[in-house]
Amino acid sequence: MDISDLMSRLGVEERYYTRGPLSVTTPIDGSELAQVAPDDHSVIDEKIALAHNAFLEWRSVPAPRRGELVRLFGDELRKHKDDLGRLVTIECGKLLSEGLGEVQEMIDICDFAVGLSRQLYGLTIASERPGHHMRESWHPLGSVGIISAFNFPVAVWSWNAALALICGDTCLWKPSEKTPLTALAVQSLFERAASRFADAPQHLSQVIIGERAASEQMVDDPRVALISATGSTRMGREVGPRVAKRFGRVLLELGGNNAGIVAPSADLDLSLRAVCFAAAGTAGQRCTSLRRLFVHESIYDSFLSRLKAAYASLPVGDPLQEGVLVGPLIDKAALDRMHYALDRAKAQGAAITGGEHVGDKGWYVRPAIVEVDEHDGIVLEETFAPVLYVMRYDELNEAIALQNSVPQGLSSCIFTRDVLEAEQFLSATGSDCGIANVNIGPSGAEIGGAFGGEKETGGGRESGSDAWKAYMRRQTQTVNYSTALPLAQGVKFDI
Ligand code: NAD
Repeated sequence: MDISDLMSRLGVEERYYTRGPLSVTTPIDGSELAQVAPDDHSVIDEKIALAHNAFLEWRSVPAPRRGELVRLFGDELRKHKDDLGRLVTIECGKLLSEGLGEVQEMIDICDFAVGLSRQLYGLTIASERPGHHMRESWHPLGSVGIISAFNFPVAVWSWNAALALICGDTCLWKPSEKTPLTALAVQSLFERAASRFADAPQHLSQVIIGERAASEQMVDDPRVALISATGSTRMGREVGPRVAKRFGRVLLELGGNNAGIVAPSADLDLSLRAVCFAAAGTAGQRCTSLRRLFVHESIYDSFLSRLKAAYASLPVGDPLQEGVLVGPLIDKAALDRMHYALDRAKAQGAAITGGEHVGDKGWYVRPAIVEVDEHDGIVLEETFAPVLYVMRYDELNEAIALQNSVPQGLSSCIFTRDVLEAEQFLSATGSDCGIANVNIGPSGAEIGGAFGGEKETGGGRESGSDAWKAYMRRQTQTVNYSTALPLAQGVKFDI
């Protein structure tokens, strides 16, 4: 597949993607798209130093001015949405509407960040001492090392970068080794925006190309104030302690094992569409994809037969083609992991519908429905593929308890028209996940809310709400505007 026209319109010079030992392939047909050169240790060291120096200047630019840079970047994204969205689809295999949607999400977070650049509010606090006032201010933190996963190759970076930049931080981005091309394209668009902005120091945002060792170098470097890492729980388990060892700050967005409950009063047409999109859409390669479904005993048989019919009709194929709803898995390793999961489920006594490898180019599969009796074994693990484990339940309490009894805690949902059930699901004794939805599947979040999950999902929050606070340091300030020196808590120290 020739991407040279696309890359040239996105402003990426050929030398960045035609030379180097790292081969980049498209999951659409498995062909090679490009060859990129990884940054070596000394180049990464230099980039970290440049990011730190840029931070020393950027932190003094007023936040609303910093917002203006993000606004210009958002304009570049608007102009190049079609090309960048297409490149996302070519590089990671999601549907074209999702590739475009990912760029729209970048534009949305830029808009959000521009507004936020005038709202980095602190607090004023009543002091117990006469003639004193206290306040809490938020200051820029430093440079932010962003490690991203292949499945949201550009949006997750933008959740971090748009906020980090308005907060006065600089960014170092280590994209997935499977998706460096979209990162190079975004970097080029960012540089165009920065060149139109008078107050921008050089190197506000840089890309580091490489595999795991490249991110490890950022992870261990004390000049990188915050490591924001998105990817598997395995990766987070390694990154978290390494950053903690140097008392750095870490924001982890890791794997999920998301569940849904279909209650007796549910709108079954709506539930069916939502389940298909969440479980089979994006070929099951969203961190929020639906992986476990609890269906009430009274509607189980009829719902399952409709679900199987809907699955059988899902068009699987080239994600650039209109009408296709299920694109490829990212690579052969993903296909092998899906088959491994299905084999284990079979050994647990599951009944499997679908799951076959489709075609002879790329890594296409028919999404699988796996009916299991036991909520155990492979069901407790995240398999990053379209595998949906389906189980029956009698009592809502029992379904909620099962839903919560996995190590991950990212996203969850219930389909019900019973307000008592919905509120129970959302209450302190309901879903234990970072995201809980009613009559919507677990995937497809908007940028306005804080995004992230609990337990082995890492506990981080990115994107909307007050997630910006992770990118700043909080300072409590006390000012004495009197001529006396009263001490707090009545302490006496007269000399
Ligand atoms: P991955 O963990 O294999 O890789 C993610 C990134 O981490 C890559 O850039 C990789 O180079 C880097 N990396 C891997 N091991 C590392 C280490 N030991 N130290 C430092 N960096 C390391 O994940 P993937 O296969 O690209 O993505 C799929 C996974 O990501 C799934 O588990 C999915 O649930 C998760 N994910 C989570 C979110 C979220 O917001 N919670 C979003 C997207 C994806």
